[in-house]
Amino acid sequence: MSEFDYDLFVIGAGSGGVRASRMAATSGAKVAVAEGRFLGGTCVNIGCVPKKLFVYGAHYSEDFEDARGYGWTVEGAKFDWPTLRDNKTKEIERLNGIYENILKNAGVELIHGYARVVDANTVEVAGQTYTAERILVVPGAKPFVPDFPGKEHVIVSDHAFYLETFPKKIVVVGGGYIAVEFAGIFHGLGAETVQSYRGDLFLRGFDKDVRETLRDEMLGKGIDLRFNSNVKKIDKEADGSLTITWADDTTESCDAVLYATGRVPNTGNLGLEEVGVEMGKRGAIKVNDNFQSSVPSIYALGDVIDRLQLTPVALSEGMALVNHLYGDKEPVAMDYEHIATAVFSQPNIGTVGLTEEQAREKYGNVVIFKSRFRHMKHTLSGRQEKTFMKLVVDGETDKVLGCHMVGADAGEILQGLGVALKAGATKKIFDSTIGIHPTAAEEFVTMRTPA
Ligand code: FAD
Repeated sequence: MSEFDYDLFVIGAGSGGVRASRMAATSGAKVAVAEGRFLGGTCVNIGCVPKKLFVYGAHYSEDFEDARGYGWTVEGAKFDWPTLRDNKTKEIERLNGIYENILKNAGVELIHGYARVVDANTVEVAGQTYTAERILVVPGAKPFVPDFPGKEHVIVSDHAFYLETFPKKIVVVGGGYIAVEFAGIFHGLGAETVQSYRGDLFLRGFDKDVRETLRDEMLGKGIDLRFNSNVKKIDKEADGSLTITWADDTTESCDAVLYATGRVPNTGNLGLEEVGVEMGKRGAIKVNDNFQSSVPSIYALGDVIDRLQLTPVALSEGMALVNHLYGDKEPVAMDYEHIATAVFSQPNIGTVGLTEEQAREKYGNVVIFKSRFRHMKHTLSGRQEKTFMKLVVDGETDKVLGCHMVGADAGEILQGLGVALKAGATKKIFDSTIGIHPTAAEEFVTMRTPA
């Protein structure tokens, strides 16, 4: 008999927590998971899933316009925000139920409430204590809003999914992928949309050509992009509208201001520092390659360790940890290379591997292939939107180091290229691959002339 109530006590039933607790229980461990808010965590409730549903919703405005060139008349198309918002919520509630069943069926005990670590082997939830041989801390991250006068009037992405009324005019502040995605969503759904970013160009860390292409496409769609732009203060007026005072003292009125200015590890009120868990930059829990913190019985993964804040990364980290702790196979270290990602901007971005800038820093001889073209669909729709593709190749070994795309379904297309890059594909292999015709994706295997 174990001296503890559980082998593993997991704090947070989000992407990483659900996967780790389910897999650990399936491997024979006695597992409990505490969840304070919603099953499935950020991704299911206020992240990837509802966002993607909103992105689909937002794209209809262009689809209706594009249909004309194909002979369709779409008259009287109107958008109703409560319908989209509430249908989305129903779908999320359905997913919450699925997550509950997944945990139950795996034999994981679900404890509702916020958990706090009391000591290296004890957790407290709602006044009750539980002991465990190991504690896994997976509380995710939360939006960060800098301090400034009027901060209390802004919303963050969490709120955007549940807005009572849809804004006529919104200002999105931030230059990361969440800011870019919400600017596209609000614009597509009919709001006059401004995106304000303090730097020269948004999406720092992405390939420069990709960033510039998306900038041009978003401007072309009518999104008011403002770079080197800073909010000084925000005032709320008697009619509920907001007045922004910009850094140059000009003022502007709008209905909502959405701050998407980064996410920080959610480590508040967890009792971690008190028990000696070391924290790094921005409050992230410091862990070794096996996700073990400075307190040997306490582990952490997902957004709270602040490596790559993505759902598939949290899932893989969860699997790697469970394999390490309870698996019968040789543990495999988590591999953070060649992780393909998408930005569900309008149009989408898909990317895997090195940007041109990163490749040039690391390799002496870098060869670039680029293609910019009008998607076949838009020959009849009349839309001027361009699709952009780029390959970054090591001139010495011919290995493809990076693939980047801006255009419809870029995320879908890049997933397969992620496999190719992980397999170490060379440009010669890309060239010898027969394209699927007629698709946009075939361009990735037909680019022959270096840029
Ligand atoms: P989470 O999923 O956040 O789960 C943490 C859970 O812990 C939460 O349910 C929380 O309620 C609970 N919790 C916190 N503290 C306690 C406590 N003390 N006791 C009990 N429970 C607690 N990623 C992608 O890969 N693709 C996307 O398209 C994408 N889009 C996103 C869009 C938005 C708007 C946001 C905000 C995020 C998006 N992400 C996306 C990121 C993704 O959601 C996260 O990387 C992922 O959810 C991290 O998983 P996690 O398990 O670390 O944390």
